[in-house]
Amino acid sequence: MTVQELQKAFVDAYGKKEDAIYFSPGRVNLIGEHTDYNGGYVFPCALSFGTYLLIRKNGTKEVNFRSVNEPEVIKVSLDKITEPLAKGTWANYLMGVFTQFIKRGVEFKEGYDILIWGNVPLGAGLSSSAALEVVTAFALNDQMGTGYDRTELAKIGQKAEHEFAYVMCGIMDQFASAQGKKDHAIFLNCDTLEFELVPVKLNGIKVVISNTHSPHKLGDEYNDRVRECQLAVEQLRTVRPNLNNLAELTQAEFDEIKGAITDPIALKRARHVVGEVQRTVDAVKYLKAGDIETFGKLMNASHDSLRDDYEVTGKFLDTLAEEAWKIDGVIGSRMTGGGFGGCTVSLVKNEAIDTFKEKVGKAYKEKTGLEADFYIAEIGDGAKKI
Ligand code: ADP
Ligand code: MG
Repeated sequence: MTVQELQKAFVDAYGKKEDAIYFSPGRVNLIGEHTDYNGGYVFPCALSFGTYLLIRKNGTKEVNFRSVNEPEVIKVSLDKITEPLAKGTWANYLMGVFTQFIKRGVEFKEGYDILIWGNVPLGAGLSSSAALEVVTAFALNDQMGTGYDRTELAKIGQKAEHEFAYVMCGIMDQFASAQGKKDHAIFLNCDTLEFELVPVKLNGIKVVISNTHSPHKLGDEYNDRVRECQLAVEQLRTVRPNLNNLAELTQAEFDEIKGAITDPIALKRARHVVGEVQRTVDAVKYLKAGDIETFGKLMNASHDSLRDDYEVTGKFLDTLAEEAWKIDGVIGSRMTGGGFGGCTVSLVKNEAIDTFKEKVGKAYKEKTGLEADFYIAEIGDGAKKI
């Protein structure tokens, strides 16, 4: 939808014009997967597609939530806004953000009419949830004049996801949505939240996102992985009492003490995290040096590790990555996001893109019975007022 169409939809829904419009993007992670909640590095970029939010003060004590993507209108009184609705209700993401403002001492005296619309495919691993949380946080920050910086808005979004969607996510998705910059990826240390915007100038190469459209959505597995990594840290503390997180360990340090992890699953998870943090640091170094071929090889190695040690790929993502690797002109390909279903991200030479779509699409259909979808990613800016 265009902004004009959204404005019309707002008037149709609420009978009056909006006060303001905000936007926040989805993201694609180039490398550094399942490292954020382990204090490691990630390297995501914001996409040009995301979630729009139109808002107006309505002079009542109620907040009305509507989404062009969902049929129902959800009406919540301000004194109930800190109480999550049934698990899975989409308005929980927005209510979770209101709640974080309230926890920080902000008092909402008046309700709002809100309409949202997003063009990030929902549940596809491109973080429509973070786009929704961050656009809400950005809008309330502007409406209430609270002056939180973008990092704080990302933290607000992450907490909303923990407390209202029950996903114990790291900070990557919300951070990318809040801090993204056109044609840049964000090299983020998830422990200190220090970050660097690295230009992604890919001469003759595009970032291609392939959607599995898999019926298997990421569910409890995410929180399982968080717990498995915590177990690895606890067991490592028997030999390294002040260890904070897995990402603190170099590969050599990990190899020296990994025998302390007695749980075989936790050992595999930890091995992925330690290796992935190193791969991410290396990948950024190679990108800066203009060595995109090595960057691509590290992406492939990331996928291998996510398949074998972290066990979050599954046949849909594996098929897309493996078929991509066979094509001449593919620099690298890996799953992106939480895993199981969702998307892969690939770097593909311009001249190979048509062949890529055709061959990968055909093989994927034969092997899984599903149609994949392909998007050329444009790297866009983070949250903004329109
Ligand atoms: P992902 O973040 O990978 O897209 P999630 O399962 O974390 O997948 O988040 C998807 C959920 O976010 C949807 O099921 C819905 O509840 C909510 N959501 C995101 N965008 C919108 C939107 N535009 N309208 C309504 N709900 C949305
Ligand atoms: Mg999400």
